Amino acid sequence: MSLIVHKYGGTSMGSVERIKNVARRVAKWHAAGHQVVVVPSAMSGETNRLLGLAREISDSADGRELDMIAATGEQASSGLLAIALQAAGLQARSYAGWQVPVRTDSAFTKARITGIDDKRIRADLDAGRVVVVTGFQGVDDEGNITTLGRGGSDTSAVAVAAALNADECLIYTDVDGVYTTDPRVEPDARRLNVISFEEMLEMASLGSKVLQIRSVEFAGKYRVPTRVLSSLTDPDMSLDEEMRSGTLITFEEDEKMEAAVVSGIAFSRDEAKVTLLGVPDKPGVAYAILGKVADANIDVDMIVQNQSVAGTTDFSFTVHRNEFARTLALLNSQIAPAVGAREIVSDDKVAKVSIVGIGMRSHAGVASLMFKTLAAENINIQMISTSEIKTSVLIEDKYMELAVRALHKAFGLETAAPTKI
Ligand code: ADP
Ligand code: ASP
Ligand code: MG
Repeated sequence: MSLIVHKYGGTSMGSVERIKNVARRVAKWHAAGHQVVVVPSAMSGETNRLLGLAREISDSADGRELDMIAATGEQASSGLLAIALQAAGLQARSYAGWQVPVRTDSAFTKARITGIDDKRIRADLDAGRVVVVTGFQGVDDEGNITTLGRGGSDTSAVAVAAALNADECLIYTDVDGVYTTDPRVEPDARRLNVISFEEMLEMASLGSKVLQIRSVEFAGKYRVPTRVLSSLTDPDMSLDEEMRSGTLITFEEDEKMEAAVVSGIAFSRDEAKVTLLGVPDKPGVAYAILGKVADANIDVDMIVQNQSVAGTTDFSFTVHRNEFARTLALLNSQIAPAVGAREIVSDDKVAKVSIVGIGMRSHAGVASLMFKTLAAENINIQMISTSEIKTSVLIEDKYMELAVRALHKAFGLETAAPTKI
């Protein structure tokens, strides 16, 4: 007997019919003798609808109240799933985050899980019940309902699996695994049978929303065997086949790993760039700029400071597009006057495209093939950032899909034997 955590995303829970299918799939696992905990997301579109209602009233709504509203989506879908499981003849019980409890810090709308009490879940499992735990939500030390950031049900599931020391965490979604890039942008994208934890971490942090980054961090920290697979297959398919389907995140670079230099391409439209022109070039300038940005709780991603000419320099950085207005206001009101910048220029029509692969560690020439490919498409690179296993470029956002497809082809990702560099 194994303890398995299933997570079902919004599309997978998107209608009463789909919820009944989830119940059938879970019943199959239960009938095979496994203990199952299910972590559902809200029905598709529901979180957007709820947050949209709040936005109609105010665009500066209090985070605590936003979480109060958004968390209801998962409460409804969890109750519905428990009813569907009971209708399928199983004993089932659903819990909201605060009932488990799933403890978090108080960073409303992007809270971090700090601990999960496994007592109630274990007691139910031992009594032969299927346990349903809401995704996306938790409770802080003051008893406030919190949410974990968009896509946070992935993190709930992996964290529950870690807390229960589960044998496997299965993330059921609307694609049948992790692909070389988003198959909605590149139809020739190829499903990977396995992806290394480090590559998955980079892909998630660089914009692939198939898994929320924190779920990958949890999987790594607690070594949770995690698999991404489809919820849209026949729920009665053989368990054996289902257990081998999808994409497994691996923690060892063993011979099973596909020996690609570049394993995947990630992209993000959520970018915005700001530049301070004519900043006096002296010690402490970067701190004077970025220190204030950090104090305002705005995360900075790429940073470029130019060679100084005649004692002044230009300083550019990128932020999440949601923080663009706040960043500009801060630059105008405080930072530019303080550092004596001549002018501020900004652009929120930018996107980041990244190539990711552990093979990049031991191969030269990967980045240059990326630059050559973009040049051949006449795509201008505005910023570049690299790490051991990724290279990212910032480009005009209207070229993003073209860039992804061109790079996918250049690195031969559509075939199982990718381009050798
Ligand atoms: P869920 O509601 O199940 O959490 P999401 O919409 O959050 O599903 O994530 C699944 C989606 O992620 C897919 O439909 C796909 O468009 C997108 N995606 C982005 N990058 C990738 C990738 N590399 N592989 C697979 N899917 C990806
Ligand atoms: N329902 C939440 C969202 O839409 C959490 C999730 O789906 O993972 O972001
Ligand atoms: Mg998701």
